Amino acid sequence: MGKNYRSELVGAFGCPIDENPTGVMEEAAFAAKGLDFRYLTILVEKGDLKEAMEGIVAMNFRGINLTIPHKVEVLKYLDELSEAAEIIGAVNMVVNNEGKLWGDNTDGKGFMKSLTDAGVSPKGKNIMVLGAGGASRAISVECALQGAKKITIANIDREQGQELVSMLNERTETEAVFAMWNHPVEVPSDTHILSNATSVGLYPNVDQKPDIDYESILSDMVVTDVIFNDPNSLFLQEAEKRGAKTINGLGMLVNQGALNFTLWTGVEAPVDVMVDTLKKEFGLEQYSNEKTA
Ligand code: NDP
Repeated sequence: MGKNYRSELVGAFGCPIDENPTGVMEEAAFAAKGLDFRYLTILVEKGDLKEAMEGIVAMNFRGINLTIPHKVEVLKYLDELSEAAEIIGAVNMVVNNEGKLWGDNTDGKGFMKSLTDAGVSPKGKNIMVLGAGGASRAISVECALQGAKKITIANIDREQGQELVSMLNERTETEAVFAMWNHPVEVPSDTHILSNATSVGLYPNVDQKPDIDYESILSDMVVTDVIFNDPNSLFLQEAEKRGAKTINGLGMLVNQGALNFTLWTGVEAPVDVMVDTLKKEFGLEQYSNEKTA
């Protein structure tokens, strides 16, 4: 057989997309595993997704990540969906199987891997999730599919929060309830896992934390954050002060990237390389791997 000069192509479609660091992490992982894959960070504006998805089939891309504003619209252009993506109603990654496009939502699974790595299972647990946007939907659906007993969604917008609660009650076995978030929200004392899935605390607003009653966090709770930059968020610092076990958002980000890597290549992802690359990208080399992944 002659030489192969053609790389396998994957990437991300989004708008804005310029500051998305996923490509650096995935390309470092491809290099570490000696795979001839390229990850392209591609600006696709709202309204152009149909042609862009036709493009990945025409150009034989192996797959693609979707980010703002395409995660929901992309469903129209896919042939098959994973169970989680179907329930969540949003897709963040696609695999191109010889022209048949399969979509999954690996945000929730990345979160789940972070929990498992920390020795925590959502099965039979009471979980409180702050926020009702995309990250919250992914986390709460995955926890429900993994057998959570009860999920409380706290949100500042009643309609958005109620909609997620109704979906969880209709589509999963878990009992879901809504908590109106119009005051410092109290964490019920029987909560096992408290999860921040709002964007509060994301760089550059690292001096902000969700408006909850921090005294209601108990030492036997596990407290998680989606915020990855800075991973040592004020929210987690407050939880740590009260003796809770904490899990930060950098692990979730790396784990979903690692799952995507494996779904595209069929090869186990070099997670340590991916963590180190992202930490370097975010200027966080001072964090040990134990603390950030
Ligand atoms: P969305 O915009 O879809 O959702 C954000 C949620 O936070 C909404 O429910 C919003 O409520 C709520 N919210 C925003 N500000 C406040 C506030 N001051 N007080 C209370 N609630 C608030 O974003 P995503 O769900 O896509 O992302 C959320 C965060 O998760 C982002 O920071 C993102 O970077 C991070 N993320 C991290 C991942 C990881 O791998 N670590 C993966 C995916 C996301 P409302 O709509 O009513 O304003």
